[in-house]
Amino acid sequence: MSEQDWYRTARRKVLIDNHLDDWLPGYEKYDSVKIADTIAGAGFEAGMIYARCHVGTCYWNASDGPKHRGLGEHDQIGELTQLLHERGLKMLLYYSTIYDKKMHDAHPDWRIVGESHGELSSSRASRYKQVCPNSPYRAYTVKCLEEIAERYEIDGAFLDMTFWSTVCHCPHCQKAWAEASGGKAIPAENWDDRDWKDFVAWRYDVITSFIKACADALHKHRPDIVVSFQCPNQITNTWMRGDDIDVRGSGAIPSHDVYYPSGHIQLSLQPRLFQATCDIHPFDVFISRPVLVLTDMPSMKPFVHMLAETCEVLANGGAVIYIDQIHPDGSLYPDHWDQFKRLNAEIERRQPFCGGEPAPYAAVYFSQDTRDYYANNDLGDKFLQSFAGACKALQESHIPFDIITPLNLDTIGKYRVIVLPNTVCLGQDEVDALKAFVAAGGGVVGTYQTSFCNARNEPYPQPALADVFGVRAVGDTRHFSDTYFRVCDDEHPVTRGMYTSRPVTSFKAQTLVETTGDAEALARVVYPYIEPHPDRYVSIHNNPPGVETARPAIVANSYGTGRAVYFSFPAGAMYATVSYWEAKVLLANAVRWAANAPAPAELDAPLCVELTVWDQPDEDRRVFHIINVQSDIGRTIATYAAGRGAATGENLHVIQEILPVRDIMLRFRIPEGKTVQRVMLQPSGLELEPEMDGDCAAVRVPEVWVHEAVVAEWSCR
Ligand SMILES: [Zn+2]
Repeated sequence: MSEQDWYRTARRKVLIDNHLDDWLPGYEKYDSVKIADTIAGAGFEAGMIYARCHVGTCYWNASDGPKHRGLGEHDQIGELTQLLHERGLKMLLYYSTIYDKKMHDAHPDWRIVGESHGELSSSRASRYKQVCPNSPYRAYTVKCLEEIAERYEIDGAFLDMTFWSTVCHCPHCQKAWAEASGGKAIPAENWDDRDWKDFVAWRYDVITSFIKACADALHKHRPDIVVSFQCPNQITNTWMRGDDIDVRGSGAIPSHDVYYPSGHIQLSLQPRLFQATCDIHPFDVFISRPVLVLTDMPSMKPFVHMLAETCEVLANGGAVIYIDQIHPDGSLYPDHWDQFKRLNAEIERRQPFCGGEPAPYAAVYFSQDTRDYYANNDLGDKFLQSFAGACKALQESHIPFDIITPLNLDTIGKYRVIVLPNTVCLGQDEVDALKAFVAAGGGVVGTYQTSFCNARNEPYPQPALADVFGVRAVGDTRHFSDTYFRVCDDEHPVTRGMYTSRPVTSFKAQTLVETTGDAEALARVVYPYIEPHPDRYVSIHNNPPGVETARPAIVANSYGTGRAVYFSFPAGAMYATVSYWEAKVLLANAVRWAANAPAPAELDAPLCVELTVWDQPDEDRRVFHIINVQSDIGRTIATYAAGRGAATGENLHVIQEILPVRDIMLRFRIPEGKTVQRVMLQPSGLELEPEMDGDCAAVRVPEVWVHEAVVAEWSCR
């Protein structure tokens, strides 16, 4: 893929959200000069302008499409392309695909059909209507995009809604699937059926080929523009959306709008995943202006909230696109743009030291196969909690980590340790790569049912990484609803800081294993006295630990020249759901021990602080981003999941204030062959005095409000 130079450094972009029907003509206050001046005046580098919205109304002089009636003679795309260029800004095209009510109404045979007996997916009660990317709608979209790219000098394009809303049974899908499968009918959902799994995989191919058709249409006339597409958050969405982590052949890169009700942590995790799956950097992350996603039109999140989201994205490698919403009369609320201007000033101060390459140390493995074929419709319990909980434990332990996927297996050698958070489904190629990685001196940390099944969730006779972990699987604890484990060796680095006097509650089922070879058991599975019954129990409140078994719950092993740690319990899920500090300590200890090498940096800071480490080789420097996001300030009004006392909804906080953190100690390693020339705190511009200790340097950061970066400039030894 080629790209224009400006794309590599631009991080201040804005999308003016424009999903307006035109039965009420509206747009009477539309003034393209005023809009261009507003975008430029707020300090943006690029404006993303609507050509077509979810309603299906067009905002250019389309030769075949319903133009918004309120525009009259105006051509929004043509005028704003020219006006933004005159102001030295870039013009990005926004185009909504699949979600198109006008095409849905005009072409009943293009509609997505959600049920095998022919009901429309887009319920009559919903405002959103969809057409199928396998229908003639695809050729129509290609024609429209070609027309736009030929006619207007756009500098980039974003395709929205490039995903499935449901399993489509329209005649076009039936025909296309029959051709792909050798004449089969669309199967019913059954996760034990290979045909169904093949169909799930084929749905990915449809979306990727649709994106490719759209990107090709744009590149036909604008070969150098970066085309991005809407990729629903792959960590918090299921197989249903059909957005593949592997879109390398599509000619486009994924992008996403992260809404904080999915958890503030997603502003950190989603960019880390895009860092692994995007061919071109920086990728874009959209940040919405309204408090409640986009269902609330006029509100705006507080400045500090949006600054925290912005800095999370920047410190994790992304560029920011703020989402504003236009009023149906075609005007913008000016005070929103005052806040955008303040935010852009903050981005601009940080742009010079954003980006580069993450300094490799730990990586958490994202397995789309595990999410789809193992977790399928039980995303939270079977995938998200383990994955995000492991990430959160590393984040709060200030261990720098990347997220990697099977696409990155050829470069795993650069990491010291890979975390497999209940990564159940691993294909043979993945198993081979992980085994070779550990044999050559790398480390792995695996939990619960990691490597139990192949890529399509069919069980191996023994876990594929059993010899790496030094275990043999013999069963699980599902005959008890509550189990525990007790640390029996607190001398080992993996269990250091733990107590041995009482068990830890697992809160989740555990596997039962035995050790093999020289593997060491550091903890044992503990059963309750009995499985309780309403009339027969040991304690009325809970199910206390009763019988310690010989089954190991934590196993440390050596494999080749590398190290492995296995937890019989899903440690990440334990931390995600009930915040047991024990799970966090064990995961962090395991990562550090298995890595068998120090991290590039250690940070002595509160839990709310996140550390990311980036190399900027062109500048010969390493950047340590310190982000302070306090999303929970107490007084959480939570709802409780039945029976378990686990609070939900606690992330639904708008951030109204962030308390500065003070006197943070950062200790970092100096890469071989380098010496420290200067250490600066940015953007505050304060020079820090490093204290040298062998190949390490330590600095004291006096204060971080939302974000500061320690920039260590090297000179050659
Ligand atoms: Zn269809």
